[in-house]
Amino acid sequence: MTTPRLEIRNLLRRFEGRAVVDDVSLSIQPGHVTCLLGPSGCGKSTTLRMIAGVDMQDAGEIHVDGQLICDTVFRVPPERRQIGLMFQDFALFPHLSVGENVAFGLKGAKSEKRARAVELLDRVGLGHFIDEYPHQLSGGEQQRVALARALAPRPKIMLMDEPFSGLDNRLRDGIRDETLALLKEEGASVLLVTHEPEEAMRMADEIALMRDGHIVQRGAPYNIYNAPADKAAVAFFSDIN
Ligand code: ADP
Ligand code: MG
Repeated sequence: MTTPRLEIRNLLRRFEGRAVVDDVSLSIQPGHVTCLLGPSGCGKSTTLRMIAGVDMQDAGEIHVDGQLICDTVFRVPPERRQIGLMFQDFALFPHLSVGENVAFGLKGAKSEKRARAVELLDRVGLGHFIDEYPHQLSGGEQQRVALARALAPRPKIMLMDEPFSGLDNRLRDGIRDETLALLKEEGASVLLVTHEPEEAMRMADEIALMRDGHIVQRGAPYNIYNAPADKAAVAFFSDIN
C-alpha cells in the first residue's frame, strides 16, 4: 500500500477539560480528496487547525509522507509544512492586485512568480483580471482567486474549511466542480471540511464521518450513504434529496 500523503493518529484536543477532538485518526492518499463531514461543533475546524499547525494537540501525531511533523514534543512550524489553507472567510489582500495576491506566498524571481499567477488565473478563467483589485471582482471570482492563491506554492496538502459556504446557492455547484477539477489537475491531496452531506458526496474520494469529537465511520461516499453506521448517521444523511 502507498504511504499516505497525510496521516493523523489518535489526535486529542481538550478545551476547558472537554475533549472536542477525541482520538481522531485519518489519512489521505496522494491525489485524493478526503471529506471530514459532520454537524456544526463536532470538532472539524479544531482538527484542521492542528494539522495546519496553528493549534497544538494534547496527544497524537501528524505525519506527512511518512514523516513525523508534529507530536506533543516535536513540531514543524506551520510555514514549513507545505500545507495550503482555504477557509470560508478567505479574504484576499485588498491592497494587492489579483496577480499579487496569487503570487503572495511564492519565492523566486518576479517574472517566475507572475508566470505562475498567470497560469493559475488563466486556469480559473480570470487571467484578464490579473492587474485588477479584489473589490472589482464578484464573490465567486474572489473565491477562484483565493483557490489560485492557495495552490500557487504547490502545497502537498490542501486543507479547506467549508470554503463554499459563503457563496450563494446558484454559484455553489459550479464552483465546487471547477474547484475539484483544478485540485485534481494540480495533483493536490485535500482534506475538505464540510457539514453538508451533499458536498461530501459530490467531492470526496473518501468520507470520514465525525460526531462529538469522534470519527464514527470512514469509507467511500457511496458506501457510507448506502450503509450509514448508525441511526444518527442515517438522520444526518437524510437531508440529501
Ligand atoms: P466544527 O468546526 O465541527 O463546527 P469546532 O472544531 O469549531 O467544530 O469546535 C468544536 C468544539 O470545540 C465546539 O464545541 C467549540 O465550541 C469548541 N471550541 C473550539 N475552539 C475553542 C476554543 N478556542 N476554546 C474553547 N472551546 C473551543
Ligand atoms: Mg468549523
